[in-house]
Amino acid sequence: MRNMKPIIKRFISYITIDTESDPTSDTTPSTSKQWDLANKLAEELKAIGMSDVSIDDNAYIMATLPSNVDHKVPTIGFISHFDTSPDFTGANVNPQLIENYDGKDIMLNKEEGIILSPDYFEDLLLYKGQTLITTDGTTLLGADDKAGITEIVTAMEYLINHPEIKHGEIKVGFTPDEEIGRGAHKFDVEKFGADWAYTMDGSQIGELEYENFNAAGAVVKIKGKIVHPGYAKGKMVNSMYYASEFINALPRLETPEHTEGYQGFFHLTSIDGKVEETTLQYIIRDHNMDKFEARKALMKKVTEDLNTKFEADIFSITITDQYYNMRQKVEPVMHIVDIAEEAMTSLGIKPLIKPIRGGTDGSQLSYMGLPCPNIFAGGHNFHGRYEYVPVESMEKAVKVICKIAELTALRSL
Ligand SMILES: [Zn+2]
Repeated sequence: MRNMKPIIKRFISYITIDTESDPTSDTTPSTSKQWDLANKLAEELKAIGMSDVSIDDNAYIMATLPSNVDHKVPTIGFISHFDTSPDFTGANVNPQLIENYDGKDIMLNKEEGIILSPDYFEDLLLYKGQTLITTDGTTLLGADDKAGITEIVTAMEYLINHPEIKHGEIKVGFTPDEEIGRGAHKFDVEKFGADWAYTMDGSQIGELEYENFNAAGAVVKIKGKIVHPGYAKGKMVNSMYYASEFINALPRLETPEHTEGYQGFFHLTSIDGKVEETTLQYIIRDHNMDKFEARKALMKKVTEDLNTKFEADIFSITITDQYYNMRQKVEPVMHIVDIAEEAMTSLGIKPLIKPIRGGTDGSQLSYMGLPCPNIFAGGHNFHGRYEYVPVESMEKAVKVICKIAELTALRSL
């Protein structure tokens, strides 16, 4: 393609390699095709002049950009994941370049009549006049999180070519399997050696996140008794009716479809029922630790109360914590958020600070000793055919990375 910007070329070279992860696999990376991009990235980091480039047995990539100042500066890191979501296929991505976007419908796929429309995805209108990269309607794009990788590599290349920008030591980390919740668990925080880091894995330009849910999963088992229905009077216990008692005992409006912002919820994710036994799966989410604990306590109380009401041990519950709000780990080192905010403001980007209604690799890393807020990578509509990314947002993210590096060195003078 004619005279394409290097950042677009780089991004396309990543998204056209299929790296879909697989939650049913036990290996790391979960799919061997992730090696295809991992190996390429390691080579590319060497090629642009990064030091200590390493790729371990689980495909975790690390690299260093040495400090170019004499004074002591904290070591900071930038992290992205190279797998794509198993929610939608990432094979044979065929990106479309929409230059000077006119704010109208974008035909992604003529044959199948797939349209990316601002009537439905209003955010598109933020990018009138910009260059969008979209799918052809048959795959996801992989901006989540190959946009983040593109931005980090491009920023490192820029800093290497512009030694007049003063910065401390910078670490780069690329991980597999973030989309299946296993991006952080084999991340060697000690080897990485950063004082703090940022995941470049947010969405819209300006996003800066350091709060996520506290999360637990609950499994409720309801025991019944199967008897021939013709002879069941006074004998059969149909666990499914008892299950509905449990479901209705929890506040109906504290569910994902009725909550937003800082409101937590109980989410019934599955019912597996027979007369003999019914299993309910829930996830419990709350940003506030006290409220999170109260939600777990309520589920236990409902279990006990129902057993008392029916004078039998019909209900049992197992609750397992999954992850915690990184705010608890970031708040004591709040300057790491301030620096990112200052970097954005100084570049004319309005910071959008809001709580994540989910978890990130950064929340796990924060609890592993590496405080790790999340910054926008620029894409929208992740995990599906309507995913797109404005090139200008990726370029701004590159600038944010360079500016954070510069400010960190300045602040420690
Ligand atoms: Zn992501």
